[in-house]
Amino acid sequence: MTLLSKKHIDYVVNLNSEMSKQSYEHWLSEHLRMNGLYWGIMTLVTLKSLDSLPRQSIIDFVLSCVDKRSGGFGAYPQHDGHILSTLSAVQILSILGALDELDKESVIKFTKNLQLPNGSFQGDSFGETDTRFVYTALSILSILEGLEEELVNKSLDYLKQCENFDGAYGMRPGAESHGAQVFTVIASFAICNRLDLVNDKLSSWLSERQVKNGGLNGRPEKLPDVCYSWWILSPLAILKKLKWIDLSKLEQFILDCQDDEGGVSDRKGNQTDVYHTCFSLTGLSIINDELYEGNKYDMDSIDPVYCMPYSATKTFKPWPYKS
Ligand SMILES: [Zn+2]
Repeated sequence: MTLLSKKHIDYVVNLNSEMSKQSYEHWLSEHLRMNGLYWGIMTLVTLKSLDSLPRQSIIDFVLSCVDKRSGGFGAYPQHDGHILSTLSAVQILSILGALDELDKESVIKFTKNLQLPNGSFQGDSFGETDTRFVYTALSILSILEGLEEELVNKSLDYLKQCENFDGAYGMRPGAESHGAQVFTVIASFAICNRLDLVNDKLSSWLSERQVKNGGLNGRPEKLPDVCYSWWILSPLAILKKLKWIDLSKLEQFILDCQDDEGGVSDRKGNQTDVYHTCFSLTGLSIINDELYEGNKYDMDSIDPVYCMPYSATKTFKPWPYKS
């Protein structure tokens, strides 16, 4: 099977016009709207087709989701600010070259205020915590050049406590290792320039995620799911261990999860969605860079730390900042 680029582009563009017609049934639920927009945009970026969406109306929509009370972004206008939609908003504006339109200080303050004494982060002021939010916060602050030593050190201390005997990481100290969590921890270490903290056992654990049909799972004994083509492959890319899995077999698994009508599903034959479309194609882009010097799939290169195009991330200031 070949890559159905044109179909995937149309799929994302149609999702966007369904939205503007206020017809939600083909889209995600409203509370995921800002994340969904980011997934759609990353699909188009990867396929070098960002200009298929109207740039200014996207910027206007994102800016209309600012929650003036908290300083963060909601998933939708008039929603409370949440750290996940704030990262998506910052990523989208950065990809579109529109970060200047952002009140950076308010977003930095919103993000810093969500850190708890143990180093973890809340998603919003209502107290829901999830260790993925540590990465979310570090990524926002890195993009906006708002990292600070104490915040970084507390975050790293917390993430280290989430390491398990197998060298991988769980959602909180003592919780079972999980592929998505590994991405957030390794990318956090990369943002903080502390990849020396990675356990040597981790690359084996990551490579053991590949099952017979070439797909990757998130935990031992689980079915493969195409989104792990990003969550597992990106830490391997950061650690420069891509050769530890069979990339050609994974490539075939990803292509098989495509729908003839556009979009990608978690496994072959299932219902497509924009989340799995995004993370299958960003994963395929890593494979494309690694296996094909000639850019076989005509894709843009994606930074495995930020899940954004290198064209956006190359200007980010590395930590620690030089005064
Ligand atoms: Zn999935």
